[in-house]
Amino acid sequence: MSTYKRLPVAFESGSGAWLIDQHGQRYLDALSGLAVCGLGHAHAAVQQAVAHQAGQLLHTSNLYEIPLQERLARKLCDLSGLDRVFFGNSGAEANEAAIKLCRKYAHQKGITEPVIVVMQGSFHGRTMATISATGNAKIRDGFSPLLAGFEHIPYDNIDALRELADSDSQIVAVMLEPILGEGGIVIPTPGYLPSIAEICRQNDYLLVLDEIQTGMCRTGKWFAWQHESIKPDIMTLAKSLGNGVPIGACLANEKASQAMLPGSHGSTFGGNQLVSSAALAVIDFMLDNNLEQRAAVLGRDMLEQFSGTLAGLAGVKDIRGAGLMIGIELHEDCTELVELALAQHLLINVTVGNVVRLLPPLIISEAEAEQIVDTVCGLIQKFLCG
Ligand SMILES: *Cc1c(COP(=O)(O)O)cnc(C)c1O
Repeated sequence: MSTYKRLPVAFESGSGAWLIDQHGQRYLDALSGLAVCGLGHAHAAVQQAVAHQAGQLLHTSNLYEIPLQERLARKLCDLSGLDRVFFGNSGAEANEAAIKLCRKYAHQKGITEPVIVVMQGSFHGRTMATISATGNAKIRDGFSPLLAGFEHIPYDNIDALRELADSDSQIVAVMLEPILGEGGIVIPTPGYLPSIAEICRQNDYLLVLDEIQTGMCRTGKWFAWQHESIKPDIMTLAKSLGNGVPIGACLANEKASQAMLPGSHGSTFGGNQLVSSAALAVIDFMLDNNLEQRAAVLGRDMLEQFSGTLAGLAGVKDIRGAGLMIGIELHEDCTELVELALAQHLLINVTVGNVVRLLPPLIISEAEAEQIVDTVCGLIQKFLCG
């Protein structure tokens, strides 16, 4: 179906931060397949895990015990301090699980028409529940009737949540991205997330963080909430969890997760042997090579270089980032930069029309990071000066 407007290039192989097209041309990847390939392409550890597992067993279903899935769940719980995990196959499914969990929890508490507070400008996926939660009219238009039970408030506005909390007794949870990804790399004011967490605590709301784009070391921490002294009740992961093998996860603490009982929710493929082995390889490599720290340091350097060259330039509105999640906001629409970059063999993305979004693999070298900065700066300078 014509759901995608594709760029006219097809890649046949990859290595690290590089992709090679059908004609043998090399492209530097500053997008990682939309924050998926944190370890880059054709990574040896993932390749070995997947190949080995394919020779053993791919899938048995969740009718049986899956020790690899249990090991993966334990690792994710150790990293996050949360207690339980449900595995699906995508980000949207991870968020579906989170939404269902909130509703189940609400009904147990006697809230019959539960409301989940969500944010304008957010993105949570493309299923019916997740577009209903998403705060972007373009994604919702044409798909009504949407699901009831979501209240959208402005992002990074703590008063909006306070007001709603005072007036609505059916609220069960607040669900948000710690940094808006598709919404334009919007980083909330320091203290915003702790204030949300405090309101959740006072009102007994579940705090649900969508870390699908920000998680897995992307922002210089395993999870973006670790930059602040807070902890969610529920967290969702996907994208770089499997480095390209489709896997999503919904983690929860004991308080929230007890709402789910055998039969409450399920997935045929979720957390099968193949995807669990890939995700375990990803986590082990990230831990062994301290990619958390690497993303923090490289990201800080790149942001400094971008600011050094672009800050103050008329036409550049803002330069911001956390780890290797970087946004350069222009005053005007700059969608065409994607194709101009492609012509220079660099893969970037522009989101919400005027924000250049960079999500390079966490394994890039200093030289590759510099090459990304130089090329992007050159493109933006040329674009702005005509
Ligand atoms: C990409 C993304 C999703 C959706 O993930 P899919 O795997 O495409 O379903 C949800 N939330 C956020 C924050 C994302 O960036």
